[in-house]
Amino acid sequence: MSRYRLRPTSAQVNVMLEHCRHARFVWNLAVEQHGHWRPGRRAAPAFIEQCRQLSEARAESPWLRTGSAVVQQQALRDFSRSLANFFNGTHGRPTWRKAGRHEGFRIVGVKPDDVRRLSRRTGEVKIPKVGWVRFCWSRAVPEGARSFRVTCDRAGRWHLAFAHIPHPVRGPADGSSVGVDRGVTVSAALCTAELLCAPRLSRKEAERLSRLQRRLTRSRSGSRRRTKLKAHIARLEARAADRRRDWVEQVTTDLARRFDRIALEDLNVMAMTRSARGTRAAPGRNVSQKSGLNKAIRNSMWGAFARRLEQKAAGRIVRVDPGFTSQRCSECGIVDRKSRESQARFRCQSCGYTDNADVNAARNICVIAAGHAVAVRGALQPLGGAMNREPQPDPPGQPEIPADVDGEDAKTTSADIRAHEVRSLIDQTIRNETQP
Ligand SMILES: [Zn+2]
Repeated sequence: MSRYRLRPTSAQVNVMLEHCRHARFVWNLAVEQHGHWRPGRRAAPAFIEQCRQLSEARAESPWLRTGSAVVQQQALRDFSRSLANFFNGTHGRPTWRKAGRHEGFRIVGVKPDDVRRLSRRTGEVKIPKVGWVRFCWSRAVPEGARSFRVTCDRAGRWHLAFAHIPHPVRGPADGSSVGVDRGVTVSAALCTAELLCAPRLSRKEAERLSRLQRRLTRSRSGSRRRTKLKAHIARLEARAADRRRDWVEQVTTDLARRFDRIALEDLNVMAMTRSARGTRAAPGRNVSQKSGLNKAIRNSMWGAFARRLEQKAAGRIVRVDPGFTSQRCSECGIVDRKSRESQARFRCQSCGYTDNADVNAARNICVIAAGHAVAVRGALQPLGGAMNREPQPDPPGQPEIPADVDGEDAKTTSADIRAHEVRSLIDQTIRNETQP
């Protein structure tokens, strides 16, 4: 996604905020409509019907009528897409949008003349009812982009993003392959023994953040002090998020350039980071560890990492079954829970091979992707029933290419693998907490 920093004037900010309010209002109406639906009832209105209702609502409400029809209709379009994602099982159910948190709108039908360059570092984009808004020309604007999204983050920064799938990066064409193990302590370990960590806030920044968060809990709700603290926290968090985003871009481009085939574990990140608290009927266990882990997974950018790789190295990604990659010896192939001595250390109980635990996992992923794991199959006994399943070799065929830029991990893994991975990660977190 090519994202640019917008530089609106304060008058333009007011109009854009109104666009955001309209988009949010329409979205939340759609959420409410669909919230009333129960099995057995007539289907809640689909996009076309909602658009008809929207034009009725615009006729009745002067407030809606003053806004941009494109903005409001696209909010419905966004909603129907996220509903489709929800039914596909790749995303959660679309929920309420909150003021100050989800501020943004989409403009479609963009013509080439709607974007122009003013100088080396400045460009302008035409937004309906707002006019020409300046933005930092920080990189080339993609040609032929037909739509863009304008967002305002919690730190109050406005961004412009053109929807387009980036051009694939050319691989070295030397048949090289790499296995990547995504983790929490090390965000991505490669079978070449490289350990890549998503950047975090510096120690000083992190201290400041926790100090601000403590102060926030003590502040009175609705006070000016609280608003100020929130803005402060949002700025720090936005900084951290920017760094992580940059890191994903750099690492994925680098991998796509250096290797012809990239093997990843087939993880359903959305399902893995599902709310720790669970439902009232089935409350979660280890809630605080699990929610800490969710945050760590999100900060390690597992989803974005895979998504960008799929786009940059289209057709060169192999997804492998994540079962047992961390307990199997990449040298002799024996699966033994005891071989993983600690979070960081792997020492095979059978052949004595030692390595960084994440690198060992990455080597396994690479091997499984190459289909070499067949050789050691059958020699092993599963350790703990269905959970300790032997990983199946995955044929290095054509993986699917994502149709949607915003798409989360497209493939779903079976529930037991997910449960197994989550459990082993929780074990890890608990171990880390009890052994400082
Ligand atoms: Zn071994």
